[in-house]
Amino acid sequence: MPMSEHVAGPLGILGGTFDPIHFGHLRLAEEARDALGLATVRVIPAGQPPHREQPGTGAEDRLNMARLAIAGVPGYELDDSEVVRQSPSYTVLTLRRLRTELGAARPLVLILGADAFLGLPSWHEWEEILPLAHIAAGTRPGFSLDAAIMGPVLASLFSTAHGSAADLTAPAGRIVPFDMTALDISATGIRATLAAGGSARFLLPDAVLDYIETHHLY
Ligand code: ATP
Repeated sequence: MPMSEHVAGPLGILGGTFDPIHFGHLRLAEEARDALGLATVRVIPAGQPPHREQPGTGAEDRLNMARLAIAGVPGYELDDSEVVRQSPSYTVLTLRRLRTELGAARPLVLILGADAFLGLPSWHEWEEILPLAHIAAGTRPGFSLDAAIMGPVLASLFSTAHGSAADLTAPAGRIVPFDMTALDISATGIRATLAAGGSARFLLPDAVLDYIETHHLY
């Protein structure tokens, strides 16, 4: 279970399949922390990701890799709840669980890469997400946050709810874009490189790469 929150201030939430976790994920979280003044980022690996094919790698291995990636790093904590539960890892359910755990007043900030943000309207009960948390959308190579690309429903929400770091004292309700260092790293690319016998060093933490080698993943 996650450690209880001792630090006041906005809590960042980084969900993902993390198959495997890599520096794109970690810089997304770190630059969100920096740009938006997040006290802590909670890393939540999905057990059964609902929006995609089931990952080839077991939830326990994906959780272990995420644990290794943030081990000893101040400001990060791992949340294994999605892996422990057997049902699909819908973000809205995760946010409701966090609200129950942390109360109505704590600012929650769901951190998404631009590709994930653009896919939001396909998520389960997606219109219930913003009342529960802010959304921080980080830039990602190949994905623009232009209204033309968002589609009318998301573009309209974006223009109504658009905010800045200063709005994050409220518990929820704003969409805050932020620029992050462009890192064209994907878990898909890493899996393909490793499957072909190539090197993924410097795309992800050494401890994660060592785990992959020891457990013969990919
Ligand atoms: P896959 O290649 O298997 O689809 P992925 O590398 O995109 O995986 P996910 O676990 O699906 O990783 O992504 C979790 C979150 O991290 C999403 O919000 C996604 O937008 C974001 N993210 C992943 N890679 C990057 C990156 N290189 N830059 C910015 N955001 C990223």
